[in-house]
Amino acid sequence: MQTSFKLGLIGYPLGHSLSPKIHTAALRACGLEGDYSLFPIAPDDKQGLKDLLNRVRAKEIRGLNVTIPHKQNVIPLLDELTPTAKAVGAVNTIYLREDKLIGDNTDAPGFLSDLKKFLAESPSPFLGEGLGVRGKNALVLGAGGSARAVVHALANDGWNVTIAARRIEQARQLATFFTQHAPRDYTLSEVKGTQHKLQITNYDSLILHPSSFILLVNATPIGMTPNVNQSPWPENLSFPNAVIYDLVYNPRETKLVKDAHSQGLPATTGLGMLIEQAALAFEIWTGHNPPREILAASVDH
Ligand code: NAP
Repeated sequence: MQTSFKLGLIGYPLGHSLSPKIHTAALRACGLEGDYSLFPIAPDDKQGLKDLLNRVRAKEIRGLNVTIPHKQNVIPLLDELTPTAKAVGAVNTIYLREDKLIGDNTDAPGFLSDLKKFLAESPSPFLGEGLGVRGKNALVLGAGGSARAVVHALANDGWNVTIAARRIEQARQLATFFTQHAPRDYTLSEVKGTQHKLQITNYDSLILHPSSFILLVNATPIGMTPNVNQSPWPENLSFPNAVIYDLVYNPRETKLVKDAHSQGLPATTGLGMLIEQAALAFEIWTGHNPPREILAASVDH
């Protein structure tokens, strides 16, 4: 009898999630039986989380994704974290291995993989020889859950990272966490005009960064539907001469990406990251590596 893969997503709210479409396409493309369900669990419903995780322990559910607001809430309920989940401090993928409930994070490798693909496809004056002039410096806007994955991925890939957050304390916490878990020797400082490997700055102080970075990553929800006319880049600042990666994927072209394109800059939304993190989770659960173009087509309308 063929194995049936029962998969799903924990979060709240889940109304607009694209994950069922992506994973259903992955199951079909790999010729597997199964389904992908939504499990909305309210932010303070700890018992609901426990009950669902027990269904993974009981092998009724093969694998779960986790999204807002539970990426950190699930950690105390798991037996082990993978090194990536530990380093990011958040879990987006859960599975059972040798009767242990494991928490992993595919957002970080999913982001990095899609970023690299995008950079390789984007002929840009800032990459190549420009990289030598301005250095591998990235600016990350936001210091929430996805910023953790992004900062971890960039740090691992040798980028110098500046985190800009409207609440400097949130950026400080994130940066402090990374200086403790960083893969290499990271020093932390607040921006004073000098170059450090990991810096934090207040959103209002972005003026301190004229053009020292070659990559801008938006890890805030600004510009997401229905607020499609908003951009995370402050209007009083000239647009950065950089490659732009916007994690927001709804709408398909955000104002930030439109503005960048209108200035001739390479820019993309986060749909590729969404596909990639899903594909990596799917492979962990099923052992099958799903074709990315079929997953992308499943959400392309
Ligand atoms: P989150 O944990 O809520 O963090 C959001 C961050 O943005 C926080 O630092 C928040 O600051 C800041 N922020 C929110 N509104 C702001 C504003 N008006 N001005 C300045 N800063 C603001 O959310 P998240 O999980 O990181 O998600 C962020 C975005 O990334 C969402 O749109 C999500 O859909 C997208 N995302 C995409 C993928 C993908 O695969 N492409 C994966 C994950 C997330 P406060 O704490 O002060 O509000």
